[in-house]
Amino acid sequence: MSQLAEVHIDLERIRANVRSIARQTNVPVIAVVKADAYGLGARPVALALRDLVEGFYTFSLAEAAAADLHRATGLPTLALEPKPLDDPAAYLEHGVRPAVWTEDNARRLQRVRPVLSVDTGMQRFAAPPDQVDAILRAGDIREAFTHATRHEHVEKLLAAAGGRGLKLHAAGTALLDEPRAYLHATRPGLAMYRGAVRVTARLVEATDSDQPAGYTGFVIPRHGVILAGYSDGLRKGPCLVNGSRRQILEVGMQSAFVELGPSDRVGDPVTLLGDGLSESDIAPAWATTPQEVLLRLAQLSTRRYTGA
Ligand SMILES: *Cc1c(COP(=O)(O)O)cnc(C)c1O
Repeated sequence: MSQLAEVHIDLERIRANVRSIARQTNVPVIAVVKADAYGLGARPVALALRDLVEGFYTFSLAEAAAADLHRATGLPTLALEPKPLDDPAAYLEHGVRPAVWTEDNARRLQRVRPVLSVDTGMQRFAAPPDQVDAILRAGDIREAFTHATRHEHVEKLLAAAGGRGLKLHAAGTALLDEPRAYLHATRPGLAMYRGAVRVTARLVEATDSDQPAGYTGFVIPRHGVILAGYSDGLRKGPCLVNGSRRQILEVGMQSAFVELGPSDRVGDPVTLLGDGLSESDIAPAWATTPQEVLLRLAQLSTRRYTGA
């Protein structure tokens, strides 16, 4: 973690995003707060959203317990929980309903109202469509979901588990513009967090040079240095210096070189995320998803919260 960069989380923006998702889809939102809410902090995010969402989704029971989601909000959490516990008491204590995809686990966890996970293409942590009815019976299950990223995944969920009076949900961020995917609830992650994180650093050096610089020997008329590096999760890509779009030229372990304009000075602000530079703008340079960019940059330094 860089001690010299700042991470600001705008909880009011997350609330506004959730309100707009709920308004657009007209169904309840299950807020995805796995991986510490994509690095933004599961507990503060959940507290900020408790009056706007139906419940939460995490990867594991341990995540829901660590953030104490149930005591903090009174709301339930759906946890995928790839390694189900034998003792249902832990689920009850933390208000967690586990996902199940085998008859065995459905039967064992019946008391904690498990939710069926249906495989519609992802081929992990989910039941093949031809086992749906047996699992529903074994666990007396009333709710089913799938991890959908494409329209056809939703169609497969409807074909496998529709027409049985079940509560169904499928849509994450990728399907929020597909009304057919809304079903009885949505499960967004990224879409709730867009625009809510601002990560900044300051120039500690600014140098004019016509000689090769850094490890890679880049040549550029004026470069600066910030105190965040790859040990903090930073990578090469776009940034803003004094509001102008620039490049992070080379990332060292605990510092990075930044392209500067002629008037940029020591002490000037460098935005690594936010101020109009989004995780989606950065993702191509990192050759990864916006979710991963958000998760890494939100954890670059100590988080400060505003709003809610
Ligand atoms: C992560 C996750 C989501 C949310 O994904 P986004 O693309 O960030 O909205 C929804 N459902 C499941 C099962 C997930 O694992």
